[in-house]
Amino acid sequence: MNASSAPHTGLPRIVILGAGFAGHTAALHLSRLVRSKANVTVIAPRNRFTWFPSLIWVGTGTMSAEKVWFPLAPVYEKLGFDYIDGRAESIHPDERVVDFLRADGGEEHLAYDYLVNATGPYLNFEGTPGLGPKEGTTQSVCSVEHALGARDGYLENVAQLKKGARRRFVIGVGHPGATCQGAAFEYIMNVDADLRRRGLRDRAELIWLSNEPAAGDFGVDGVEARIEGKIVTGSTVIEELFKERGIQPILAAGVTGVGKDGIAYDRVGFDPATLEYDFAMLILQFRGIPLKYIGADGSDITEKMTVPSGFMRVDADYTAKAYDAYRAADWPALYRSPQYDNLYAAGIAFAPPHPLSKTLKTASGTTVVATPPRTGMASGIMGRTVALNIAEQVAGRPATHHERMSEMPAACIASMGHSIWNGSAASIVMMPVARDYERYPDYGRDIDACELDVGLAGAWTKRMLHEAFMWKLQAKPGWAMIPE
Ligand SMILES: Cc1cc2nc3c(=O)[nH]c(=O)nc-3n(C[C@H](O)[C@H](O)[C@H](O)COP(=O)(O)OP(=O)(O)OC[C@H]3O[C@@H](n4cnc5c(N)ncnc54)[C@H](O)[C@@H]3O)c2cc1C
Repeated sequence: MNASSAPHTGLPRIVILGAGFAGHTAALHLSRLVRSKANVTVIAPRNRFTWFPSLIWVGTGTMSAEKVWFPLAPVYEKLGFDYIDGRAESIHPDERVVDFLRADGGEEHLAYDYLVNATGPYLNFEGTPGLGPKEGTTQSVCSVEHALGARDGYLENVAQLKKGARRRFVIGVGHPGATCQGAAFEYIMNVDADLRRRGLRDRAELIWLSNEPAAGDFGVDGVEARIEGKIVTGSTVIEELFKERGIQPILAAGVTGVGKDGIAYDRVGFDPATLEYDFAMLILQFRGIPLKYIGADGSDITEKMTVPSGFMRVDADYTAKAYDAYRAADWPALYRSPQYDNLYAAGIAFAPPHPLSKTLKTASGTTVVATPPRTGMASGIMGRTVALNIAEQVAGRPATHHERMSEMPAACIASMGHSIWNGSAASIVMMPVARDYERYPDYGRDIDACELDVGLAGAWTKRMLHEAFMWKLQAKPGWAMIPE
């Protein structure tokens, strides 16, 4: 195979696949770390960065779609990087070449010295028969187009409510092994707030359908915080919010299909059931983007390089263990392939070693587990870590920067209403994301660094984060001062 490439400058070439939270953050940091010491090329489809956290507002019609994305090409031009509107298809780690398909249909190969796989999730609608806007009648908010579809479906139901009809809204996750419960939680809270604002809430039934073992688990085994000297759990806070707002939770439930009778789910401790709905927004299962890995002899080595769900193996401990035997050190430190020291995976693209939440089994044998989220903040931190490590290697030093998910904090501001006058948000901070019982024997986390708060201040913070990050991610002046 001949690798076509830009003129060879003698400088190492760093190729980043994907320009989301992980890939784009890695690119931003490389622009300050390896300026004039390396060439950087970003390959990602559609010339678009999407600020996913605000899609929940697009999905309820309270923010326009134009506000949540910006074109990537001008940002990379400003940084002096090459941008290719295309999709990676296969990686040859021995030959150090990536094959990709340009948006105009041309197939090309690009040689690299360092490669970052930051391709995010493959939205696996096929994992749940009948799920999703493409084949089925449920909605999603996992892309701008999905959020616009959800908005239209939601507003049709609002119109029916206005005419005096009753409506059932089912919101949550649509697969027994789904992740991203936080986004679905924000969506149900925003639907609740919007229906109240419109004076229509009394005719709407809101159901939270989730694979979490308990309310407020969010795929991270929940959170606790010390508030006025007392330990308060996230599950108590979220249960209270559901009660206060009349939202009925159905937990420990894995959606197995969506048909003409409704949403079929299998729930721990109950018989399988079907739920009728007028409007449903269910987050689908995430898998790895189906990239092929090709060995030196031309053989397909994808199975060796990835886990069965398609995410790329990195420097994690993937040995199967019992829940109680999970360790902080199982989580990857460098986000680097164990076989190839110039190949990294960051954000959703890397394979987590195990869940953070408890895995449950239903009587009929369905495995129900909220898989670990690699949120925007975590993905950004990973992108920065990978950039720091590649910069070390470019300078001829070993890669030593580590940010395991058992070392990094997570801050989640879950919107519960868009208004800055009477909106609200649940602010959740945890340190670290993956519990480390060796370091923090009581809770696996630094309890005094964990926070739980509900109120208007969070709504302001959420809006400020939107503005601050849209600034930072477009590499506007002072961007580096805004942390991940
Ligand atoms: C509705 C919603 C709300 C959310 N709210 C929050 C929140 O409030 N806070 C938070 O921290 N997180 C939030 N998240 C999660 C956050 O968006 C994800 O964790 C984050 O986007 C993951 O970053 P990533 O870089 O791994 O993937 P992505 O951001 O999805 O980026 C993947 C990139 O890879 C590209 N790509 C795909 N295939 C290929 C290919 N073959 N070749 C090259 N490039 C490819 C994509 O086009 C994209 O540029 C939310 C998610 C959703 C859906």
